[in-house]
Amino acid sequence: MKTRIFGGTVVTEQGVFRKDILIGDGRILKTAETIDENDPDAAGAEEINAAGKLILPGAVDIHTHMDLDVGIARAIDDFYSGTVAAACGGTTAIVDHMAFGPKGCSPWHQVKEYHRLADGNAVVDYGFHGVLQSADSAALDDMAEIARTEGITSFKVYMTYDGRLDDLELMRVLERAGKEHILICAHCENHGIVTFFREKFVREGKTETRWHPVSRPAEAEAEAVSRLLALARAAGEAPVYIVHLSSRRGLEEFRRAKKAGQEHIGAETCPQYLLLDEKLYNDPQEGLKAVMAPPLRRQADRDALWQALAENETDTVATDHCPFTFAGQKQQGAEDFTKCPSGAPGVEERLILLYSEGVVKGRITLPQMVKYACTNPARVAGLYPRKGTVETGADADLVLLDPEKEWTMTTGRLHGKADYTCYEGMKIRGAVERVILRGKTIVLNGNYIGTRGDGLYLRRGTSSLA
Ligand SMILES: [Zn+2]
Repeated sequence: MKTRIFGGTVVTEQGVFRKDILIGDGRILKTAETIDENDPDAAGAEEINAAGKLILPGAVDIHTHMDLDVGIARAIDDFYSGTVAAACGGTTAIVDHMAFGPKGCSPWHQVKEYHRLADGNAVVDYGFHGVLQSADSAALDDMAEIARTEGITSFKVYMTYDGRLDDLELMRVLERAGKEHILICAHCENHGIVTFFREKFVREGKTETRWHPVSRPAEAEAEAVSRLLALARAAGEAPVYIVHLSSRRGLEEFRRAKKAGQEHIGAETCPQYLLLDEKLYNDPQEGLKAVMAPPLRRQADRDALWQALAENETDTVATDHCPFTFAGQKQQGAEDFTKCPSGAPGVEERLILLYSEGVVKGRITLPQMVKYACTNPARVAGLYPRKGTVETGADADLVLLDPEKEWTMTTGRLHGKADYTCYEGMKIRGAVERVILRGKTIVLNGNYIGTRGDGLYLRRGTSSLA
């Protein structure tokens, strides 16, 4: 079955083009300024009139946490509801970060567990980042084997939390990852700083949400970013990717390493760090919605992160989608922020926020939006050019976006299971109208019309950073 999409405006990281697209067998067969109904290649094709619409590559979110078990709570979106939300927001591929497994388990444990959670449930294409909770030689051998056999070509390390790795362990991981061309994704916060403040604030009874950002200051992020980059350099410029960069100080450390010529480094930020302010924590109830790590920051941080995107200094915008219910799970932190499950929804909101708040407001260009939401994530995850671009041979993953439609963001219009959005009441320009996954329309007029299990497991190639 072929489909001819005509009359639309295609956006890639290269620019904005008046183009028609012919798709078949789940792939893009060709693009041209005009492919009309008399084109022999398009004989018998279904037709989609895209006049007045922007056509983007399906967006790629390489930082989600579907079905995440954090011990004190389990994220409310499983791989079905979470990927339905992703699809409705224009995201056709995710790479999910695994939870830690039981203490002492092999990295294989969670790979198997995540296939069990996702296979047959996901409705967009999906891959996994592995997780390292130790750095002994058995774990590193497993990492290399998992990369080879599963196409899991990136692994996450934490510099805080119980499963964190210390500098010696990080060196072992980084040296091996460099040799194997595996990307190491790092959660960068200094464990000593964060633990010191959390213990101190609990002791002093400072347990309202307004103490949450104070307990995880920008210095904690900046120090960990700086140290990670130094360790990576010492390990022979091992490939590292800083997830959810939140602060100007953290950004400055990344910038410094780039300026010094360090290669194989990348950085991600998220809409919440571009758009939301730490003042949200001043309301002890509303603040619970935004308890996440790292925390929301200040205007100067947001300005710096937007500027980095405008100047092509950072690589991607992902979501860290990790939703808990406000009425239920988040209330575990009502008396003490350290007991609140950490995370917020966002997988559905990302693309349209980047359009409405980024492109429409002149902070980034349309091609930059595509680069940060689609193309670079595919590159970093080792999925390019199968994903993240509108080119002959790529998967026919496409988003038709109405650039003019105006609406108000409210929880009721979103498709995830969370009972809130951090962007409630925000005036939005632009709407995801149709989403096509490998040639099949799975979202139409904002409604999900696909089938559970439509998503394919993605065996990923080598990251562009590795
Ligand atoms: Zn995360």
